[in-house]
Amino acid sequence: MKLVHTVAELREEVAAAKAQGLTIGLVPTMGALHEGHASLIKAANMENDFVVVSVFVNPTQFGPNEDLDAYPRTLEADCKLAESMGANIVFAPAPKEMYPSEDATWVEVTGEITKVLCGRTRPIHFRGVTTVVTKLFNLAQPDRAYFGQKDAQQVEVMKRMVKDLFFNIQLRIMPIVREADGLAKSSRNTYLNEAERKAALVLSRSLKAAKEQYEAGERDAAKITAAVTASIKEEPMSDIDYVEIYALPELKPVAAPMAGSNLLAVAVKFGTTRLIDNVVLEEK
Ligand code: AMP
Repeated sequence: MKLVHTVAELREEVAAAKAQGLTIGLVPTMGALHEGHASLIKAANMENDFVVVSVFVNPTQFGPNEDLDAYPRTLEADCKLAESMGANIVFAPAPKEMYPSEDATWVEVTGEITKVLCGRTRPIHFRGVTTVVTKLFNLAQPDRAYFGQKDAQQVEVMKRMVKDLFFNIQLRIMPIVREADGLAKSSRNTYLNEAERKAALVLSRSLKAAKEQYEAGERDAAKITAAVTASIKEEPMSDIDYVEIYALPELKPVAAPMAGSNLLAVAVKFGTTRLIDNVVLEEK
């Protein structure tokens, strides 16, 4: 496996792979890799000849009071994990390499899809994500790109961008990887102290209960979100940002009664750490 830091080096590696007729899988990440990321890299390795993992804490997707500076950076360990999962290249550019000019060209998906859920409190977040992923798509020229269902809204935004901009790239969406006790794996889990870590289990527990409620026949979205909200509020350390249900795909308003496939998504703060989790509610 090779670690490269510049656009020029990545382009050279990609050109060489293409010249050999290899298929390319891209796994975009912000590093501090864990088993969630590993599952994406593993899938990319199984489905492609050549795997590029990007490790870039993308400044344009962080708001002014968010955790850009504090975000964990563990490149050495990331390279070990990426290599063990079969990556060929880790691309870890400096911010200047990805954003060489003060003036920026933005790629932005507009509409409710980027304004609901995380878009409400993080108004520039998805513009940052779609811009950096477009740059990565153009550099790595992947046949397939791998994203996690953990960031369910990001998945819907990516699908929309790929469709609207005619990217000739197959999106592969991998299921949420959880700790043994249910907590969704996240680079931000390292911010949690012991009490917050324990309190955060309320998320997966409440989502599981909601799924059971749905499977038992409940089709009133308001009743399901009310039950999840009440259950999360029982945990005194929790501070809810949102508990909401939207219809899939594209996060449209949920029908009454619920029909088809719907996303129940939550964002909750424990101390200063904001965690997200979700479950898809759909007919079996
Ligand atoms: P991040 O480094 O947090 O930007 O995540 C990079 C990619 O890994 C995104 O597509 C995430 O959705 C995915 N990912 C993060 N955590 C998990 C998880 N627990 N399970 C599956 N995929 C994940």
